[in-house]
Amino acid sequence: MSSKWSESLRHAFAWRLGLWYAALFVVSAVILSVFTYVLLGRALASQDHNTLESMLSRYATEYERGGLPGLRSLIETDAGEGRHERLLVRVVNRQAEVVHFTTPPGWDAFDLSSLDQAPALRSGWTSLDHPPDGTALEVGTVNLRDGVTVQAGRSSHVRDELLAHFRARASELVALIGLIAVAGGVLLTSAGLSPLRSLDATLQSILRTGRFDARVETRGSRDPLDALGGLVNEMLTRIQTLVSGMRGALDNVAHDLRTPLTRFRNVAESALINDDPVATRDALTRALEEADRVNSTLTALMDISEAETGTMKLAPERVRLADVVQEAMSLYADEAEDKRVAMHATVDRALELVADRTRLRQVLANLIENAIKYTDPGGRVDINAVSGDGVVTTTIRDTGIGISAEDLPFVWDRLYRADASRSARGLGLGLSLVKAIAEAHGGRVAVSSSPGTGSAFSVGFPAAGPAGATR
Ligand code: ADP
Repeated sequence: MSSKWSESLRHAFAWRLGLWYAALFVVSAVILSVFTYVLLGRALASQDHNTLESMLSRYATEYERGGLPGLRSLIETDAGEGRHERLLVRVVNRQAEVVHFTTPPGWDAFDLSSLDQAPALRSGWTSLDHPPDGTALEVGTVNLRDGVTVQAGRSSHVRDELLAHFRARASELVALIGLIAVAGGVLLTSAGLSPLRSLDATLQSILRTGRFDARVETRGSRDPLDALGGLVNEMLTRIQTLVSGMRGALDNVAHDLRTPLTRFRNVAESALINDDPVATRDALTRALEEADRVNSTLTALMDISEAETGTMKLAPERVRLADVVQEAMSLYADEAEDKRVAMHATVDRALELVADRTRLRQVLANLIENAIKYTDPGGRVDINAVSGDGVVTTTIRDTGIGISAEDLPFVWDRLYRADASRSARGLGLGLSLVKAIAEAHGGRVAVSSSPGTGSAFSVGFPAAGPAGATR
């Protein structure tokens, strides 16, 4: 229903634009035609006028030279050569007698008697009454020596016919332009709207199916509609990542919290059915531990999912690595001492990187905690750092139990714990969080290890540029 509606809306839109194009074309064509028509009309009228003018001046010259006989002979020669076919020629002598008068057939419609009246006989131009077909007769009069007057006139009939022909052809042309403009406009508009159609289809499909994997078809051109499609695709990819991240986080939370919550419930239940106050107290202590565990798991899971989906709030700043290493080490100094694990850091104080200070400390603390946790008494933990290719890499190396080749690829996975380390307390989320935080900073992680010898965990963060430079 809604797609039918949007389909008809699109058609209406294409038609509307098409009609607008057509209207603009037709108006332009009409303006052009009217302009040409007016110019043509003027040019034809002035041509007729010039013909009469030059003829009258020839007759005046001839009269000066040969008198009335010379003038009559020139007029007769002209008539014989067909020059008077469409002209009126009249010669009137001093006694107001018409000594020559030729007029083309069919000119009876004009009131030629008015040519004998005084105003018409004065040098100048007269226009005779219009007969019913709308034509006009232009007559030029020249008063010559000795009271002789010569008149020459031309009807507008021929040029009116020519202009009528022009009008008819111009109207046909404008109608044709209108048709081409409507068809072309509709075609061009619907071709131009094709990116919008693809956008519409994509959004419809997402609304219908609730799946964000549909994408707008783009051609990678610089067309703004195509670019808009590209932007929508980018936005969809981002939404898809967020939605699947949120779904994943929800699944993980549901799955990972079930076990500790069941344990929590069992502890509470056993405390309820047990009358022994010591056992009850013990159960309550365990229940508290389980509650803390649930809380830590939940926090770690949320952090991982936020870091992975890019929604973790980071405040990157220029950080001196040696300071943060020191802070992280001091958190576990007592634990290392209790366990008799020697801990040493060799980090150049000049090394600076760009990171959220709190999250960087969390990453280093996690790796140091693991190194101490999985190293037997008498072992060592060494921390050092190098800079290269725009990355500052910190390595935490221990002489602990190491990780087998089978386990090594999975240690970054959520909740993965190698068999050898099951006895140690832990959630199996520390390394996932380290990886997620490092990658959220544009950094990377690496591990190398061999069982019985020890492990080396490395984490790289973007190096800070030279002091004072803006990154
Ligand atoms: P947790 O330490 O809480 O179990 P982690 O995600 O921090 O979870 O580590 C995942 C697993 O990787 C650990 O269970 C352990 O098997 C292994 N691991 C991590 N760090 C070390 C290390 N320094 N030495 C040996 N094994 C390690």
